Amino acid sequence: MVALLELVSYTDRLLDSAAFADYCPNGLQVEGRAQVRRLISGVSASRALIEAGIAAGADLLLVHHGYFWKGEDPRITGMKRARLAALLGAQMSLMAYHLPLDAHPELGNNAQLARRLGLEVAGRFGHGPGPAVGCRGRLEPGLAPAVLAQRITEVLGRAPLHVPGRADSIRTVAWCSGAAQSYIEEAAALGVDAYLTGEVSESTVHVARETGMHFFAAGHHATERYGVQALGAHLAGRFSLEHEFVDIDNPA
Ligand SMILES: [Zn+2]
Repeated sequence: MVALLELVSYTDRLLDSAAFADYCPNGLQVEGRAQVRRLISGVSASRALIEAGIAAGADLLLVHHGYFWKGEDPRITGMKRARLAALLGAQMSLMAYHLPLDAHPELGNNAQLARRLGLEVAGRFGHGPGPAVGCRGRLEPGLAPAVLAQRITEVLGRAPLHVPGRADSIRTVAWCSGAAQSYIEEAAALGVDAYLTGEVSESTVHVARETGMHFFAAGHHATERYGVQALGAHLAGRFSLEHEFVDIDNPA
């Protein structure tokens, strides 16, 4: 068991949250009970995850996609009211880490993806106002594009969308989980054989075709399942908490 505020300040420091200029507040978003014994992690703070947390008797939900995004309607009405009412009614806290959880060199989504896909991290890319979030690295040995697509399918449990590129063997790769399709030109400028992210836009396909780089859209949810699990497991070990990851499946 740990005091909520101690857990929050430890995690803020662990993920260096203050260094990021993010689209949402990172850290404690909704305050519940003062002590935390049971933690449920999940990708997004959807109503289904809240209900799963309540059913499990959780003190805290830990997510990658929380609330209070820049530009959203700030009023507490409709769906948002229902979510907050459920959290507050159960005195269950919500802790959310967005970019800091993509970027962390061990627990982050991109580090965890690398470990699962057999990618060797050689550096970072994807500079916004804060630290770089994406990774670049190598596949050793190089893989035929169809073999890499098969590996992604097996590891993430779904077939990626693949826009074929020039290389017969993929050795150099850039990747960034989630909706990082806008990084594709920056990835192409690195001269890598392939770029992998979660989502695709119409224009992404043209960039891939015209630069000759392989492109894989492996799913936003599917590429972001792993960071929050790793962070949840780390916190559970550090503070002797009960932890369970709840996967609310999402085809996007
Ligand atoms: Zn995301």
